This record gives sequence, structure tokens and C-alpha cells, in this order.
Amino acid sequence: MEIQTNYPLKNLNTFGIAAAAKEFVSVTSVEELAAVLKKNAGKKLFILGGGSNMLLTQDIDALVIHVNLKGIEVVRQDGHTAHIRAMAGENWHEFVQHCITKNLGGIENLSLIPGNVGTTPIQNIGAYGTEIKDTMVSCEAMEIATQQIKTFTNSECEFAYRESIFKGALKGLYVITSVTFGLTKVNHKINTSYGDIAAELTKNGIVIPTIKDAGEAVTAIRRSKLPDPKELGNSGSFFKNPIINIEQFEKLYVQHPTMPHYKLDDTYVKVPAGWLIEQCGFKGSRYGDAGVHARQALVLVNYGNATGQELLDLSKKIQYTVSEKFGIHIEAEVNVI
Ligand SMILES: Cc1cc2nc3c(=O)[nH]c(=O)nc-3n(C[C@H](O)[C@H](O)[C@H](O)COP(=O)(O)OP(=O)(O)OC[C@H]3O[C@@H](n4cnc5c(N)ncnc54)[C@H](O)[C@@H]3O)c2cc1C
Repeated sequence: MEIQTNYPLKNLNTFGIAAAAKEFVSVTSVEELAAVLKKNAGKKLFILGGGSNMLLTQDIDALVIHVNLKGIEVVRQDGHTAHIRAMAGENWHEFVQHCITKNLGGIENLSLIPGNVGTTPIQNIGAYGTEIKDTMVSCEAMEIATQQIKTFTNSECEFAYRESIFKGALKGLYVITSVTFGLTKVNHKINTSYGDIAAELTKNGIVIPTIKDAGEAVTAIRRSKLPDPKELGNSGSFFKNPIINIEQFEKLYVQHPTMPHYKLDDTYVKVPAGWLIEQCGFKGSRYGDAGVHARQALVLVNYGNATGQELLDLSKKIQYTVSEKFGIHIEAEVNVI
């Protein structure tokens, strides 16, 4: 558990940005984490998981703590459900695969999302009609100031669309150390209603899907639509889908009758940010090594040597253009550092 200085982060962020950490340490146990936090009290800290939801626009002038805690265990079960706890440093997709193999259902639609288990509650990760909040029972987190572990229940996490208390009131105060999910052992509620899942299953001749089938369908769809960060640096969806009020939506819909939309309730409508960006002509565009993915306008990509600042400038240009054309502000989902 040695602290290293001027540590390269290029391989630790999925955008592949060549930035460095002033100091860096990887912790493999809760005890090591507590010791590092205690010894470095008062220092500027940065907590790093899988690096798949961040854009590094500069070197990190802080002690970067790489949370590398491992372990998965069933902590409680009956005939219907199992509570399974994974340590924060477990790779999320591998954990999903582990649960599918054990026939535990509920997170299969979240297959192939990069990053670590410990980060999943932070932005309430979601895809294909499922969010972490649907199955997360609780998470444990260490308070940075006191090194005390606190258990947060699902409701205490204040989950919302790509939001939680860890991005809000408690931002920067806790390190999540483990997350516990309540998953089905029987009567799985397989959700194939979203996106192309049903079509993918039909294509494969599957009529009554298992959780494994659903997970594989999601994986195949994601592989066909999203760039693999190992081949093309990216951080997934760069922007959140904006939620606008119905009056604004109705006015826009008259001008843009093909605008896709999801009515959330009688007051709000969600509009796909990718469609807005595409309408502004950015899809497939490239500025040096910073670009907008050719198949998914929501994804900004690093073709090789883009700097974080170049990608940030491009994101601002997109935000400005969307705002000028539609009067809608699209907010970054990615953490800009
Ligand atoms: C190709 C691709 C596709 C993606 N698809 C999706 C998707 O469908 N849905 C979705 O929701 N997201 C998606 N993402 C975004 C990303 O995978 C998730 O947000 C993921 O949960 C980030 O995990 P991470 O460990 O990589 O976080 P990091 O990038 O390491 O960290 C993100 C933030 O959390 C903080 N943090 C990290 N670990 C901890 C911890 N243990 N305790 C406290 N704070 C911590 C960091 O300081 C940082 O602010 C995608 C990303 C990529 C590259």
C-alpha cells in the first residue's frame, strides 16, 4: 500500500486521457482504506473506481485512492430472494454475469455497463428500463472524516434519474465500500419491453427468455451500438436526457413532429439528448482527435490523443448549439474533473 507520485492515469480512465495523479494509492481492504484516510487527513482526495464516468481535463492535484476492494457473498436468502453483497472494487459486468450464473435475477438488463460495483449507486446507473434503485437494498460507505462505516438504505440514497445523495448533499464525504442487492431466485421479472431486447430475442428464436437470454440480448445490442472503450476512448453517454415541461414540449413538437419523447407524467416529458444532438448535425463529426460517435450522437469519443479540454470544449459547443436550436439545456452526465 505504497503511495506513488506523478502516477499516469491514461489506462485508468476509459476516455484514455493522458493525465497524471499527483499521488496515487490502490487499497485492497477496508482496513487499508481507513488507514490511508486517517494518515492523509486534510489532504485533497479523489476516489477512483473504474474511471468510466469521468473526463480528466487536467492532472489530478490530489491523492487518488483507487478503490480495489474485492469479494462477493450471499448475506441472506430465503426460497424467493437472495441478498448478495459485492465489494466496491468488483467489476460491475463481471458481477452481473456472476449473478446470472447463480440464477439471480434483476440486474441482467444492466449487463456490459463498464465500471465498478461501488460506483453504481452514485449516479443510480440505468439502462434498458432498469436502474440500480430497483434492486439495491443498501450500500456501505466509509465517512472520509471519521473512517466510520455507515449503511445507507435504498431510500436514504435519494435515488433519481442518474442522481443520488452521493452526487448531492454527501458529495465527496464518503467512500462506498460495498453494495447489497436483493435479487430473485424464482419467478424472475424479466423486462424485455425496452429498446430492441424483444427483437433481439426473436432474432435468436427465443420465445420464453431466461435471465441469461435477456442479459445476452442486452450485451449484443450494446456491443452493436456503443464503442468499446478498449478500442475507442469514451465515457458512454456524455449527456443526460433532458426532462422538459409539457408546455415547452408541445410547442417544440409542433415545429419538430418527429421528436422522440417519453411522457413521464402530466407535467414532464423526457427527450433523448442523442436525437437533439443529431438534429444539430454533430453525429459523426470530428475536431482533431475529439469527436461525436458515428452511431450514437450521445457518446463523445477520443480518437487517440484528444485532451480532456478538447473534449470539454466540444461538449460545450454541443450544449450551446442544442440550446440555440431547441431552447433545451443538456446537462453532462460524465463527471468533469
Ligand atoms: C461504453 C460505456 C457505456 C456506459 N453505459 C452506461 C449506461 O448504460 N448507464 C449508466 O448509468 N452509465 C453508463 N456508463 C457510465 C459508467 O459506466 C457508470 O457511471 C459507472 O457506474 C461508473 O463507474 P466507475 O467505477 O468507472 O466510476 P469512476 O469513473 O471511477 O467514478 C465516477 C465518479 O464516482 C466517484 N467514485 C468512484 N468510486 C467511488 C466510491 N467507491 N465511493 C465514492 N465515490 C466514488 C469518482 O470520484 C467519480 O466522481 C457507461 C460508460 C461507458 C464507458
